[in-house]
Amino acid sequence: MESDARVCPFCGAPPGVGIFCSACGRNLAAVERLPTRAEWETTRPAEAAPAPAPADPRQLADRCAQALAGFLTAMHAAGDPGATKMPMTGAPGFKRPRNARGWVVRPVHREEDDEDPRRYEPGLVVTTEGAVHRLDSEVRGWGQRDFPTFRDTIAPDPIDLPAEERLIGELAAVLRDNGAGS
Ligand SMILES: [Zn+2]
Repeated sequence: MESDARVCPFCGAPPGVGIFCSACGRNLAAVERLPTRAEWETTRPAEAAPAPAPADPRQLADRCAQALAGFLTAMHAAGDPGATKMPMTGAPGFKRPRNARGWVVRPVHREEDDEDPRRYEPGLVVTTEGAVHRLDSEVRGWGQRDFPTFRDTIAPDPIDLPAEERLIGELAAVLRDNGAGS
């Protein structure tokens, strides 16, 4: 690495463009000026732990939880920009809220040429209350000319935050797209 490259003050790696370091996931919003790699090497405490290995699932879960906490803090501070009301999955009549407010952090994904419109990779939603839900996609319009049409709905039961490297970048991207990132 170039010694004058700007690095994350916590881990010494290039932090990427988001509010969270892309290498270690820490929130960099409060960092006024990133140190150069040379500065970082001279100032870091001798006992500093090496950058966390992304392969450790426990550390990754911690970093994802940190990223989510930072995401919610930044969004709330900015007045929850971009949060939209989305319908819940399920037949009417359930004694449950019919919708929730939040952000699509990961859209539903369908293969372009998949012959079965019911097959998809669920997305991910974070509500303004900080709950994480799967994003389902209902197929509609059976027997109609415009078939198939899709309607994204939020699975009613919250899930545990997935410990996935890509989630950290996805949260940062939603912050940025809504003007709540740095
Ligand atoms: Zn870092």
